[in-house]
Order: sequence, then structure tokens, then C-alpha cells
Amino acid sequence: MDARLGDVIDDFCVKCRRLTNHSVVSLLNGAAAKVRCRTCYSDHDYRNEQAPPSKKDLKKAELFNAVLSGVAPAAAAEDPEAVEPKKAAKKPGKA
Ligand SMILES: [Zn+2]
Repeated sequence: MDARLGDVIDDFCVKCRRLTNHSVVSLLNGAAAKVRCRTCYSDHDYRNEQAPPSKKDLKKAELFNAVLSGVAPAAAAEDPEAVEPKKAAKKPGKA
């Protein structure tokens, strides 16, 4: 099936993170080579409607959320004045 410039086809947009309408902006051997998202107008290679591997991003997001929810108040600072060293009052003893 030959695509033509300006054809509107479905493809996965990484910015929109979903299948959106794309216009064909570049052809290669009669097939869409580059497309432009009709929603966010970003150009990218035609992915044949396949979502790119985004496990890294997912993990990143997971980690980020974990850090956010794991923020604990670090108010365990010790009061330096509370740790006052006691002086051992030595009495001059007679032998
Ligand atoms: Zn988009």
C-alpha cells in the first residue's frame, strides 16, 4: 500500500503517548518514513503504530514516585547543647 505525502495515518506519538493521527511528511520506497503528529505537531520516524520500548521511562517514573512518597521528615538532628560533656571534678587527693 503506497502512502502519499500528506496522508493521515495512525501512529504512536511518544509525546502524546498514544496512537494519534499523523500526516506523512516523508516517504521512503512508497512507505511513510516520517510522520507528523496532528495533535502536538512533532515529527518523528514512522513507527508502524508500534509503541517504542519505554520500560526505562516507566521505571524512572516508578522511582520518582517512590522517592516522592518515601520522603520522611529527617528531623533527627541532635541538639548539640543536650550532649554536654560532664566535667569530672577531680579533687586533689592526698595520698
Ligand atoms: Zn503527538
